[in-house]
Amino acid sequence: MAPQELRYDGQTVVVTGAGSGLGREYAIFYGSRGANVVVNDLGGSFKGEGKNSQAADKVVNEIKAAGGKAVANYDSVENGDLIIKTAIDNFGRIDVLINNAGILRDVSFKNMTQKDWDLIYRVHIYGAYKCARAAWPYFRKQKYGRLISTASAAGLFGSFGQTNYSAAKLALVGFTETLAKEGLKYNILCNVIAPIAASRMTETVMPPEVLENLKPKWVVPLVAVLTHKSSTETGAIFEAGGGHIAKLRWERSKGALLKTDDSLTPGAVAAKWSEVTNFKECEHPTGPANAMELVEAAGRLPRSPP
Ligand code: NAD
Repeated sequence: MAPQELRYDGQTVVVTGAGSGLGREYAIFYGSRGANVVVNDLGGSFKGEGKNSQAADKVVNEIKAAGGKAVANYDSVENGDLIIKTAIDNFGRIDVLINNAGILRDVSFKNMTQKDWDLIYRVHIYGAYKCARAAWPYFRKQKYGRLISTASAAGLFGSFGQTNYSAAKLALVGFTETLAKEGLKYNILCNVIAPIAASRMTETVMPPEVLENLKPKWVVPLVAVLTHKSSTETGAIFEAGGGHIAKLRWERSKGALLKTDDSLTPGAVAAKWSEVTNFKECEHPTGPANAMELVEAAGRLPRSPP
């Protein structure tokens, strides 16, 4: 089925932080493709202060005006169970969870306060956990679920002034990749996106001509494909922004194999440094290196008698 025809009739989609930016675009999209949408938004500032029901209400009204089905929820994602309860109470099910809500508390590490650290942790990690935790039993029971977590290039690569945000965003990668493994046999597919889009988060750090090319709606089609029933993709990381969509993966150098005896000294490691860090021969692992396999490949295991 061509992506422009993807539909979600009868499904319930929860989008957190759907009052503006990317979340708003997801919510409007699902609302236009037959889904029941829970539009969650706390309605605070981008730094995580205050709250307001108008942000979610506006998007709900937009979806309804276009003939779609939506309800608002104003809870913080820290109370994710109440957000999922809104889905169950109103629509009787939950099929797709988009963990999208987010805030920024950018500051150099030297000047970061405990509050800067804690708020970012609570919204991005604890909030995503609380929503997923509440949705999970429904996903398992119905043997169907689609979960998206929103990471960031800041988490994948680091970004000056964003230690709190980077840590939280990369934590969501580990969280989601493990959920992908646990959810696989229940047809629960879990993926991570690292978007780039014009929003109130980026409008102060990017010039208008750049923002013009980064409309949030251009991230939506990727999320639509990943959360559709036809998808088989899970445990993956994607970048999306400005029309560019790409998958990321880990790379491991072939590395060096040192003897496991007293010769394995810091000096021996230093002597092998070019082998440890050489990516000419590399693999793309989905799990930790199996040390025993490497030892076996190097012919180091005692041969069993014929
Ligand atoms: P945005 O500020 O427009 O949207 C975030 C929404 O989340 C807001 O409407 C806000 O009210 C809501 N929110 C904040 N805290 C909440 C809470 N505790 N509970 C419920 N709702 C809450 O920003 P955006 O750019 O659309 O960001 C969406 C997601 O994408 C965020 O997770 C952000 O970190 C991530 N992201 C964005 C970019 C980008 O370029 N815009 C890049 C990387 C990652």
